[in-house]
Order: sequence, then C-alpha cells, then structure tokens
Amino acid sequence: MKKSSSWLFITLIAIIGVVFIDGFIRFFLVKNIEHDADLINNLGIIRGSVQRISKLETNNVIRDDLIRLVDKKFQDYSPEDQDLGLNSTRYGINFAKLKNSWNEFKETLQNYREKPAVEAKAALLAKSEEMWDAANALVLEAQLISEMKLKYYQLFLFSTVINILLLFLIIIFVKRYVRDKLELMAIYDPLTKAFNRNYLKEFLENEIKRVERKSRDLSLILWDIDHFKKINDTYGHDVGDLTLLELTRIVKNSIRKYDVFARFGGEEFIIVLPETDIQAAEMLAERVRKDVEAFKFKKIGHITISLGVTSFSIGDSEETMTKRADIALYKAKNNGRNRVELEIF
Ligand code: GH3
Ligand code: MG
Ligand code: MG
Repeated sequence: MKKSSSWLFITLIAIIGVVFIDGFIRFFLVKNIEHDADLINNLGIIRGSVQRISKLETNNVIRDDLIRLVDKKFQDYSPEDQDLGLNSTRYGINFAKLKNSWNEFKETLQNYREKPAVEAKAALLAKSEEMWDAANALVLEAQLISEMKLKYYQLFLFSTVINILLLFLIIIFVKRYVRDKLELMAIYDPLTKAFNRNYLKEFLENEIKRVERKSRDLSLILWDIDHFKKINDTYGHDVGDLTLLELTRIVKNSIRKYDVFARFGGEEFIIVLPETDIQAAEMLAERVRKDVEAFKFKKIGHITISLGVTSFSIGDSEETMTKRADIALYKAKNNGRNRVELEIF
C-alpha cells in the first residue's frame, strides 16, 4: 500500500513537471513564431523598398529616406535572426547573399547618380530585380520554416492535451485510492486487520434491527487470551503482538465466511454469528477454543483462550448483548480458563 502510494505520488509529480515543461516550450515556440512573422514582414519591406527606390530614381526622384530604412532593417537583424532555427543553414546563406546584393545595389545606384547613362540605368534595374528575387526566395524560405514550427507547435498542443488528461485521470485515481484507504482505516484494526470496535458496534446494531424484524437467530462470542500479561512479561511486547496476530489468523480460519470477527479491545475479540442459535454458537466457540489450544506458537508454545457465548433475546441492544457475553467470559475465567461458558438473558 505504502509503496504504491509513493509510486502514484512520483508519477503525479512527473506528469505535473511534464505539463509545465511542455507549457514553457509552447510559450517560447509561440514567441519564436511571432518573431519569425516580424522578420518575414521586414523582408517584405526590404523587397518592396528596393523596387520603389530604383523606380523613383530612374524617374529622378531621390528617396534617401528609403535607403536609410532598408539599411536600418538590415541592421535590425541580429546574428540569431539570420538563422531561423530548425537547422536551416540555407536561410542564413541566402540572407548573407541578400545583404551583399543590397550593398551592390547601393554601389550601382551611386554609379547611376554620378553618370545617369542608359547602361547605368539598366544595371540599376537589373540589380533591383536581382534583389527582389533574392528577397522573395528568402521570404518563401522563412515562411516554410515558420509553417514547420507551427506543425511542431500543434504536436506539442496534442501532447499537452494528453498530459492534462493523464493528470486528471491520476488525480481521480489518487482521490479514489485515498478514499478507499480511509474507509479501510475506519473499519479495521491496524495490528490484527480484524474489524475494529466502531465497525463492530455498527454491524451489531444493524444485525439486531434485522433479527428484531425477522425474528431470526443471532449470537455472540467474546473471547480473551488466558494469562496474556505473562506472555508479554516473559517474551516482550513484540512477541505479544505477534501472538495476537497469529491468534487472529487461527480464529479467522475456524469461523464461517459470514461471521464477523472484530477486535473488542486489548486482547479481547468478538465474533458475531448471524443466523446462529446458542447451541450452534457454543459448538463454534468450542471449535475455536480447541483450534487455539492445539496450535503451537513460535517461541511461546501453547496458549489458551476463554470464551463467553450469548444469543439475542427480545429487547436486547448492542450494549446489553456484549455485556452478557462479557459476563459469560468472566464465568469462563472464574471456572478455570480455557473453556466456553454461556449466558442466556
Ligand atoms: P486473564 O485474561 O487470563 O485473566 O489474564 P491476562 O494476563 O490476559 O489479564 P488481562 O486480560 O487483564 O491482561 C491483558 C494484557 O494484554 C494486558 C496488556 O498488556 C496486554 N495487551 C493488551 N493489548 C495488547 C496489545 O495490543 N499487544 C500486546 N502485546 N499486549 C496487549
Ligand atoms: Mg487475558
Ligand atoms: Mg483482557
């Protein structure tokens, strides 16, 4: 139980961790894709501006502001921006080519301004076309990379959904596990795993209600270990505990499936016997007594128990029934122990 609960806890923490890491990666991926969009936009501006510059220049309109704008756009590209990730070296190479092309364009433009001859004009227009092609190829490449990133992003989204579902499943599982465990703890005695006194009380009260309605039989056996103090004193409390444990195993094997076996307190136990009259209960008690007497315990050898038996009679409550069983047990102790005594209302 303890082991599986710690495993559950570790799994839960691991999944929470994965969800967080996944969330972070997605956050950066979104930022990255947004940034790529800016870069693509800038390339578009460069592409368009070069076309306008050459067109206006050849019509004798000088637009140095546009040249400065393109220069600035190139400056804005950090070294990382020249590689969009996903191992795309082609993008970086093409970007360097575009930058070169821009410098050449500016030289050609300068030549044209100095000597606006027909050849210089043709050279300028040719350079402008060349740049447009290069910028366009780069935009397409950037778009391709960005689309691939989006695909990765969708994959991450899918894994996040799976992780969150898994997380919910585990939370439900843990809740159920804890609830079941608490329920078990509420009705069992931790040492002997017999039912505890609370459960016994509730069960007996319900049984009494049932036999009152249907006038059925119901009996009780209350038993106590003989001279148990001596065992503790001689062999120690741990051996005492072990004896209790073994004893409960013997008794559980002696009784029937529908009999309820509970620890009444200390080394006293109760067996509730539904549909059983006093004679049958006495026989069962005798069988349990003999089984215990015959068993050879490790270290301590043989021990005995005394048993008190009683049956339901009209007007009984859980308290009056157990009280009577206690009187019967007291008689068994007084009459020499290792015996069964009855107490009938
Ligand atoms: P008898 O019933 O025959 O009169 O004698 P006894 O020595 O058994 O006397 P009593 O019932 O009064 O003593 C019960 C002893 O059981 C006292 C206590 O130390 C021991 N005991 C009660 N609960 C536990 C337990 O959970 N573990 C161990 N090791 N001992 C327990
Ligand atoms: Mg005792
Ligand atoms: Mg006792």
